[in-house]
Formats: sequence, C-alpha cells, structure tokens
Amino acid sequence: KEVLLEVDQLSIQFQLKNGKEAKVVEDVNFTIHKGETVALVGESGSGKSITSLAIMRLLPIPPGEITAGSIALNGKNLLAYKQKEMSRIRGNEISMIFQEPMTSLDPVFTIGNQMIEGIRRHQKVSRKEAWKKALLLLQEVGIANAEKVIAEYPHQLSGGMRQRVMIAIAMSNNPQLLIADEPTTALDVTVQAQILKLMLKMKKDHQSAILFITHDMSVVAETADRVMVMYAGQIVEEAPVRELFLNPQHPYTTALLKTMPSLDSDVKRLPSIPGTVPPAYALPDGCRFAPRCPHAMAHCHVEQPAIHYIQEAHKVRCHLFTEKGELAHDGERSFA
Ligand code: SF4
Ligand code: MG
Repeated sequence: KEVLLEVDQLSIQFQLKNGKEAKVVEDVNFTIHKGETVALVGESGSGKSITSLAIMRLLPIPPGEITAGSIALNGKNLLAYKQKEMSRIRGNEISMIFQEPMTSLDPVFTIGNQMIEGIRRHQKVSRKEAWKKALLLLQEVGIANAEKVIAEYPHQLSGGMRQRVMIAIAMSNNPQLLIADEPTTALDVTVQAQILKLMLKMKKDHQSAILFITHDMSVVAETADRVMVMYAGQIVEEAPVRELFLNPQHPYTTALLKTMPSLDSDVKRLPSIPGTVPPAYALPDGCRFAPRCPHAMAHCHVEQPAIHYIQEAHKVRCHLFTEKGELAHDGERSFA
C-alpha cells in the first residue's frame, strides 16, 4: 500500500510559564497508508491531540516547539512549509473534525455560507456551483432536509446534525487525510454510532484515510484498521486492530481494554485505570507507565524501554520483551 503520511521521530516540547519544559510528545513514529483508518488511542493528556495539531501545523509556537522529527505528506515535509503554503493544504489535502463542532463553526454565518467559503477557498467554482456542491454534500451526510439546513445557523441544529455538517465541510474538498479528534465523544450513544458509520462511508466514497483520535476502545474496534496506543507522549503499542484486541502485549493496552463495556455485563460504570497519566513536565525516569503498571520490575523505574517487534506489524515499548520481540521473562505473557 502507498504511504500517505509519515511521522518520523517527532518530538514536541512546551515551555511552561513557570519555566519548566514539558515533553508532550517524544520520538513518535508512524505511517498512514492511502485509504487506511488508523486509531490513535489513549487517555486525555497522552499527547494525541498535540500530535494531530502538529500535523495540521496548528500548534501554538511558542510556547510549543517541535524539537525533532519530520511529518511528510506524500513524501513532502509539512514542517518545511510556510504557513501560507500550509493554508492550501489545510481543509483541502488534510482536514480535521473536532469533538465540539460549535468551536469550528462560525455562529454568525449560515451553514451554506460557511460551506461555500470552504469550497471556494480550494476549488475554482462559482458561488452557484459551490452552493450546489454544498447541498449535495449535506444530502450525502444524511441530512434529509438539506435545503432548509443550508440556510440555518449552527445554533439551530442539534449536536448530531452539527457533527454531520462538520463532516460535510471536512469532506468538501476530498481530503486525502481526515483527522477526527474525538468526533463522537460529546454525542449520545445512538447518534455516536450513526456518526461513526457515516464517517466510514464518507471515507470510502471520497477515498480518504482517517486518523481517528479517541480514548474509547469500543470506537477503535468499530472503526480502525490499525491501532496505535499512546501513553504520556509516546506510542507504547501498535498493531492491526484484530491483533491488538486478541493479543494485546503492553500492560497499558491491557488496562485500556478492561475499560471497555462487555456485552454480557450490565455494569454501567466501567473501571478506569488506577492512577493518572504523569504530567509532561514531571515524567518518570524509566518507563512512563511504571507508576501504574502491575508488572513493573525494578529496572522499569530507571530505564526507558525501547520499541520491540513482536511481529512485523506489531510493536511494543516495554521491558517485558527482549530485542527479538520475545518475552524477557517467562510466565508474564498473560497479563489479564
Ligand atoms: Fe510495565 Fe515495565 Fe513494561 Fe513499563 S516497561 S509497561 S513498567 S512492565
Ligand atoms: Mg484531546
């Protein structure tokens, strides 16, 4: 498969007001192929959104700083682009949808006017043609009364409808990559399922790839081809979705999977992982998960684990594995 996006050894630091430095992303490597859906999963504060903002070149710099690495789209390093060149890529080759559409929709313009502006920024079409395109897109995202909605203001729509509109806007210039940052988190469960289904349909129809950012493993199961698990600024495990669910290797991944609702239980409140993600200005010396890890060994607290390959497409950052990807300690395979 053809490589679309390549993030190579990306490190991002923030200068805090108190003079401290926060390593919010460290040595992050991943590839997204054309048409692929890749999930970036982890608790809040793990660096997922910062990574996506860096791809869009929307990081506030300063206080943010990309201290190392490159981000290449179709082989071209986005970090070398001027902001003006980037504005031709944003909303066009890469577009993004967020958890709360109200933050990216302009309250004073109608849906139609916002869509037309977005289309005409990247395509040489008349207002009338752009209007027609906008109407078709609204129909495509399942809005039945598109003629009415196109003339409405964002506050007149429900949360689910607003997210449909956002998807229509995001897809309006046929992006090669759609970055979706917790797009369904604010919606109720039924609407959530509809929006996920819609995103996958739009991705297929427009032949886009998706980088899906979420903290929710059930969303991952329903959407992703491949999964990257992020913890405290690092990717700690990566595998094809089936492999990750059937054969999770990192203790953090196992813990995340336990937070998923199971079909046969009627437990409403799910167990969360004890403890919290360490703040990026006070990271542990060794493995960043060590303070919460039930399998932590003495050297986990002093030495950072390197990435080991379990299989060609399955890698894990943990001391339980040797360089060859074999278990370093007998009897530790079953983490459950
Ligand atoms: Fe746990 Fe050690 Fe692996 Fe970190 S390196 S996840 S502390 S076993
Ligand atoms: Mg986030």
